[in-house]
Amino acid sequence: MSFSHLGLNPNILKAIKEQGYTKPTPIQKQAIPIVLEKNDILAAAQTGTGKTAAFTLPLLEIMNRKKTKNEKKRSIKALILTPTRELASQVAENIDAYCKYLPYKTAVVFGGVGINPQKATLRKGVDIVIATPGRLLDHISQKTIDLSKVDFLVLDEADRMLDMGFIHDIKKIVTYIPKHRQTLLFSATFSNEIKKLSQSFLDNPKLIEV
Ligand code: AMP
Repeated sequence: MSFSHLGLNPNILKAIKEQGYTKPTPIQKQAIPIVLEKNDILAAAQTGTGKTAAFTLPLLEIMNRKKTKNEKKRSIKALILTPTRELASQVAENIDAYCKYLPYKTAVVFGGVGINPQKATLRKGVDIVIATPGRLLDHISQKTIDLSKVDFLVLDEADRMLDMGFIHDIKKIVTYIPKHRQTLLFSATFSNEIKKLSQSFLDNPKLIEV
């Protein structure tokens, strides 16, 4: 099976071809069609399985299909939460590569660095934000980020976020995101805590294990 069988548009196919990907990994094969059908997913996947493309490619495809013409200002349509700034940067780098031939802008938001450059980027308008929970809450409380138009929420490495004590931050962040959204949760393990989290945030999720 090749990427062209998954219903992705030519601009996405061109970008992944440039990345040297010839065929989808098992998680991509499973997740992409399910996400394109607008389902929530609960996916067990380790780093290195290709999970970033598994959630990003269908999000880009859906965003591209329903692109809002004449949008006066860009709005944040997808929020990806990650446990660490290293992972946030890595995910952002991948997403930028997949977006190469699409008109979407990304911003990466994490702590330990100055907040002002992040504010400047957000002010100009972005479509996709990749963030760690603490700094994202800083932006929310300073009203420098608007999550009211978010259609997609991705919780990446959710088990690590719980281990790092981000549960309250995540719960708070979710209150700023519309209920009518698509939520994708990725975790290396399915502990009871992850199951509880998925029951409160996901709507009838499809289970994916690779
Ligand atoms: P991830 O699990 O998302 O961190 O991806 C791990 C690595 O696999 C990254 O360097 C990706 O660029 C690469 N990758 C993702 N999908 C594919 C694919 N279908 N074919 C080859 N490499 C891939």
